Amino acid sequence: MSDECIFCKIVKGEIPSYKLYEDDDVISFLDIGPANKGHALVVSKLHYELLTEMPSELLQKMIIVVQKIAAAVMKATKADGFNVLNNNKKAAGQLVAHVHFHVVPRFSDDGLKLVWPNKEYKEKEIEEYMDKIKSVL
Ligand code: AMP
Ligand code: ZN
Repeated sequence: MSDECIFCKIVKGEIPSYKLYEDDDVISFLDIGPANKGHALVVSKLHYELLTEMPSELLQKMIIVVQKIAAAVMKATKADGFNVLNNNKKAAGQLVAHVHFHVVPRFSDDGLKLVWPNKEYKEKEIEEYMDKIKSVL
């Protein structure tokens, strides 16, 4: 738990949320600044800042809740699709430093742009990246 963290405060019930689901390890509630209406967050009850810091058993529990919430959000909002997003660190757009997944319902005409322009590798560069990453796996 972190005293300053807004999601820890929601977990503890110190500030209200539009709660969708809760079990011993995971909580889900609506994002108050939604990309589309019905945008939900799936949050671990324990405070970890990053996906890479949390125990894999807890991540497994979270992703199962993501699946359950995504199905419910799709059904309830009659969405055409959905995105699952997880931001890590400020450079990647993480505003709340407590690990969470976004479940964003998508509609064919919603005008959201969640895709990025593609960069290009120089010659041999893609192999170098592959080797660099594999060497620290
Ligand atoms: P991220 O940028 O991935 O850290 O996302 C944080 C998300 O938390 C944003 O989409 C905010 O709209 C959302 N958020 C912040 N405070 C609250 C809150 N009190 N209740 C629900 N959602 C919140
Ligand atoms: Zn927290």
